[in-house]
Amino acid sequence: MNLVLAETFCKQIVFMLLYADNCLSVRSSSMQQPITGYHLDEEGHWVAQLACGHFQHVRHDPPWMIREWVTTPKGRHQMLGHHLACKKCDEHVPPDSLHS
Ligand SMILES: [Zn+2]
Repeated sequence: MNLVLAETFCKQIVFMLLYADNCLSVRSSSMQQPITGYHLDEEGHWVAQLACGHFQHVRHDPPWMIREWVTTPKGRHQMLGHHLACKKCDEHVPPDSLHS
């Protein structure tokens, strides 16, 4: 039994329980799209890339917006696949693209 792996797994469960509440509190009829990746915008804010091709800011801006997970690589990794309400889908906005 790999103790380090077991510990990581336990922490992930706790993390999921903590943030499931956040997720459930979002009562929206918007299209739910899983996070597939992230990038930083010009101002250093994290932007989630959704499966639908849209981007969405995921700011950690207490006390208004508590998204501490976005401040760490581990947190961001754990939120991959987490569903966000995508208003751009509702409004039929064309998919966003990264300027390279
Ligand atoms: Zn979308």
